[in-house]
Amino acid sequence: MVQEKQQTAFVSEIFSSAQGEGVHIGRRQLFVRLCGCHRNCLYCDTDFERKGTFNVEREPGSGVFEQVPNPISVNQLIKLLHELNRSAFAHDDLFITGGEPLLQADFLAEFLPEAHKQLNLPVHLETSGDLVVQFIKIAEHIDHVLMDIKLPSVTGESATWEAHQRFMEKIGADEISATIKLVVSADTSEEDLAEAVELITATETRAHVVLQPMTAAVKTDRIPTAKQVLTWQSQMASALGHSVRVIPQCHKLMGLL
Ligand code: SF4
Repeated sequence: MVQEKQQTAFVSEIFSSAQGEGVHIGRRQLFVRLCGCHRNCLYCDTDFERKGTFNVEREPGSGVFEQVPNPISVNQLIKLLHELNRSAFAHDDLFITGGEPLLQADFLAEFLPEAHKQLNLPVHLETSGDLVVQFIKIAEHIDHVLMDIKLPSVTGESATWEAHQRFMEKIGADEISATIKLVVSADTSEEDLAEAVELITATETRAHVVLQPMTAAVKTDRIPTAKQVLTWQSQMASALGHSVRVIPQCHKLMGLL
């Protein structure tokens, strides 16, 4: 019998760490960072370029990385993750991030069911929240989505409200647990926040909403002031009629990956 060829992926890094963003902060997760991104956020410092090898940190927090060749097959990736997931209860979740992981949705569609079967971990997906066609391919395998609403005044890009809307409608229709993250900088416009509130209200999502004050990056140091962040939190909570949390990138405060 001819065996079907497995999908392969370009990976950026694999490691074990505590989650530093969103409402699942502090949970111990197995991180898989995939290569590639279709966006160009001003505050982005993530290395997501496709390379001939990727980093595997076998000793958590050691900063020592083994180089593994790219691209990698489904079975090879699961084997590596097994090696990092050494003991029972070592990890709370498998965390798929990027770049933009949905750019490799065909790989994920094959990888996630197998990973779920073999690792028995809930799957969390971090995404820019604007590629619904790709998301539909894997939505049934996702236990929690950490998605962005990208604010043009912060990212320096064109608005993608409609793409976010379609994404949030899918999350709502499938009742997928979700967190909506809005990165805010000193340049955040009131109009963008109002648009985000309108989107969240219109799509009737029950997602957690998090304001994430921007961390200084190579291309921008426009960190919002405490007064700005607290004002936006109050305004959004009043408009939405539920809690809006302020959570910075805590892994950077602790020197975690
Ligand atoms: S979506 Fe994420 S990875 Fe892509 S450019 Fe923006 S911050 Fe960077």
